[in-house]
Amino acid sequence: MTLLDGKHIASLIRAELKQQVDQLLADGHRAPKLAVVIVGHNPASETYVNNKIKACAEVGIQAEKVALEADITEADLLQEVQRLNQDPSVDGFIVQLPLPEHINETTILSAIDYRKDVDGLTPENVGRTVQGLPSLVSATPKGIRELLARYNIPTAGRHVVVIGRSNIVGKPVAMLLMQKPYLSLPGMSAASLGDATVTICHSKTQDLAAICRTADIIIVAAGSPKLLTADMVKPGATIIDVGINRVMDGYRLVGDVDFDAVAPKAAYITPVPGGVGPMTIVSLLQNTLQAYQNHKS
Ligand code: NDP
Repeated sequence: MTLLDGKHIASLIRAELKQQVDQLLADGHRAPKLAVVIVGHNPASETYVNNKIKACAEVGIQAEKVALEADITEADLLQEVQRLNQDPSVDGFIVQLPLPEHINETTILSAIDYRKDVDGLTPENVGRTVQGLPSLVSATPKGIRELLARYNIPTAGRHVVVIGRSNIVGKPVAMLLMQKPYLSLPGMSAASLGDATVTICHSKTQDLAAICRTADIIIVAAGSPKLLTADMVKPGATIIDVGINRVMDGYRLVGDVDFDAVAPKAAYITPVPGGVGPMTIVSLLQNTLQAYQNHKS
């Protein structure tokens, strides 16, 4: 079994990004800039946002944290989104999810200028990605694809089972891995990725275990600890665990895979933490640099 070390791969990619940013500065250009909007004081969101800002600093991307109170109205948040859309010094921005219940996430995400949508969640970016047009690809699926590429794990012709159908992970990762490679987008290492046969599963799927046993690659993004057990895994399968679940004392993180039981059967497996999480953050940095370059040209 080989551990898919997202923490290590993300550090390699950050070093590559730093070189590119250093070169931009040496050529007399300004640094790329990311803004991160956070609404309220959700401790998990605070941690994610701080990690993103720290990662920006490491590669020389300027980062601005826009902290807004939990009782902000949807109209005021929309106004903030418009301000960031129009600010020429901001190349990309994200609105950290989840938002408070009184705010409609779709309304907010849809208002982001797709050219600055470095989380790749606007309807424009999702649609453009599906059609193979230049776009900013959703950060977690992009990170998963990059992780597979860096470990030379091909997807062509292989059966990928995705557990979860969210707009953030399940649907876009399924779509990315089934695409024809010629549709791969600029700035991504396409190496034999795409061309998978993909099955998407969800809570209404019948006999999930039997479907998983036919998979060469299983991507679990359900938010349910130990959902994927050893009896659901074909020997030699690749396991990508996207789940982040807080257990016990509220601080320990586990994924959706029964790691100790599944790892001995798998050829490759991601740990939690240290697998998909760091790849998501580094994809955000890659998207910010891409948005900057698009903006500049
Ligand atoms: P959502 O809650 O939006 O979606 C979960 C999906 O899993 C749904 O489609 C749901 O089915 C399905 N599901 C839940 N339980 C089961 C089950 N027992 N059997 C089959 N399917 C099931 O979650 P997200 O996609 O936003 O996130 C999923 C997980 O990934 C979370 O733990 C989240 O924290 C984590 N995450 C991690 C990231 C990272 O960088 N590592 C980034 C983003 C998310 P249905 O549609 O029928 O309800």
